[in-house]
Amino acid sequence: MARIMVTGGAGFIGSHLVDVLLAEGHEVLVVDNLFTGSRANFRHHLTNPNFEYIRHDIVQPLMVETDYIYHLACPASPVHYQHNPVKTIKTNVVGTINMLGLAKRVGARLLLASTSEVYGDPQVHPQHESYWGHVNPIGPRSCYDEGKRIAETLAVNYGANGVDARIVRIFNTYGPRMLFNDGRVVSNFVVQALKGEPITIYGDGSQTRSFCFVSDLVRGLISMMTANSCAGPVNLGNPVEVSIAELSERILSLTNSRSQLVRMPLPQDDPTRRRPDISRARDQLRWEPKVALDEGLQETIRDFDLRLRAGEQPLEFGVG
Ligand code: NAD
Ligand code: UDP
Repeated sequence: MARIMVTGGAGFIGSHLVDVLLAEGHEVLVVDNLFTGSRANFRHHLTNPNFEYIRHDIVQPLMVETDYIYHLACPASPVHYQHNPVKTIKTNVVGTINMLGLAKRVGARLLLASTSEVYGDPQVHPQHESYWGHVNPIGPRSCYDEGKRIAETLAVNYGANGVDARIVRIFNTYGPRMLFNDGRVVSNFVVQALKGEPITIYGDGSQTRSFCFVSDLVRGLISMMTANSCAGPVNLGNPVEVSIAELSERILSLTNSRSQLVRMPLPQDDPTRRRPDISRARDQLRWEPKVALDEGLQETIRDFDLRLRAGEQPLEFGVG
């Protein structure tokens, strides 16, 4: 049994990670300011003596005892991270310094949840970890992209100061517990299809993404944290690439929806193509995704359908 802290543990990916860590018998401390996370995501653990939660903003320092830190705290969806870009930068820069400082003080191993966004609108395809990226430093995504790039720089430099800091670059991930209104493509299309509302395709729908189901991703995070040695960075994502138009067709068919497709303007700096090269994860972690897109989408649709029928309201974010 280990003492494990999960920053962002009330959020989408973090809460699935917490479920698995507790099921493995570890002590888990969730640190989250509930900006985009929700108590509902850990309510089922409140009676578990191995579970603890602190409402805390990581932009402020934190003193706790822990052996491992999964550092996930940061809004991940463009509508959330652009809500207060300076706060996003502070979370990534000051928050990551605080978490690396804590790791240094208590001798904990830290895993940084970085992102495929560090590759920007990539000019190399698929993206291998050796690619430095093509990022607009002053664009609308820069608070997040550049924030995560400096977070990586911090992890590497604290690493040189003796902290066992590991970096994963997470590609688009989906699954149950995504927020209805986080503006991401899977959640938007599933809600729109289930409600019979128009499916909003930004641009002509030819842009591509590669979607990883959350259980596969969580397995990858744990493999990286528990590997004997692997500083990374390591890409974690599903290498099966689909266009946004194709994704809309799949979701329409799986939901038997009659929603119409509508075209909307393509957001500025929207990456044209994105697919991870996961050879490093395969070689060093023996990790690869197992859940096929249709299977993962079915599970996601079931979860959204249940929550919509139960009358769950979209999160009012920005209160954290
Ligand atoms: P999420 O928004 O659901 O979860 C983020 C969590 O961090 C929330 O619970 C939020 O309340 C918390 N948080 C935000 N700022 C905080 C702060 N200053 N102090 C304390 N807590 C704070 O997002 P997610 O999809 O679960 O993403 C988790 C991590 O994975 C993020 O670091 C994100 O950048 C990374 N990531 C996610 C994806 C994806 O497709 N979901 C892709 C790449 C990288
Ligand atoms: N997208 C879309 N309709 C939507 C939401 C998103 O066509 O309702 C597109 C978006 O322009 C992008 C892709 O889907 O090309 C993935 O968007 P998301 O915000 O999920 O992830 P990211 O762009 O951060 O990879």
